[in-house]
Amino acid sequence: MARYTGSVCRLCRREGHKLFLKGERCYSDKCAISRRAQAPGQHGQSRKKFSEYGLQLREKQKVKRYYGVLESQFAKYFEMAEKKSGVTGENLLQIVERRLDNVVYRAGYAMSRPEARQLVRHGHFTINGKKVNIPSYLVEVGDEIAIKADSMSSEKIKAILAANEKKAIVKWLEVNGTAAKVVALAQKEDIDLPIEEHLIVELYSK
Ligand code: SF4
Repeated sequence: MARYTGSVCRLCRREGHKLFLKGERCYSDKCAISRRAQAPGQHGQSRKKFSEYGLQLREKQKVKRYYGVLESQFAKYFEMAEKKSGVTGENLLQIVERRLDNVVYRAGYAMSRPEARQLVRHGHFTINGKKVNIPSYLVEVGDEIAIKADSMSSEKIKAILAANEKKAIVKWLEVNGTAAKVVALAQKEDIDLPIEEHLIVELYSK
């Protein structure tokens, strides 16, 4: 399935939630959800209640969109989550939080996950000293993610670091300037997104 290239604000309106895909704009009055929360399309305003299946499907779509994950990859993450010990839904969230693009965003090195994905693809980051340009790379506890020394001259990166200087950092990351260490795996309570992961587990259990 191809990656969605249309208006990302439309995706938020479809889910009825802020997905934080546009950086600073998401926190401003210009956010499309703040101005017009109804679903897109001519029938958006008259949206009916979802069936149980519809709710489960929407929850899965929402999480895929938060993290920018395509269908097949998401299904693989679910398989991985099922094989791990513990609660499958929470394992699933832990896996998507381990994606390098998400870690870059969480560390304050990008204004949004889509921007983090682009910066990773452009080769601005290292993991334990080695360049990694794969947004879906899954970090481990103990990994150190750093902005490459020569990327520090990029005006874009300088502006992001300045804007995020006071950003609250998740407790499973230790950020020290241009390097961030994974000190633990994210737990459900660390994830500041309104996700009902049990609905996704129910969907895949059908
Ligand atoms: Fe979503 Fe951000 Fe657009 Fe608001 S500004 S609708 S949160 S992408």
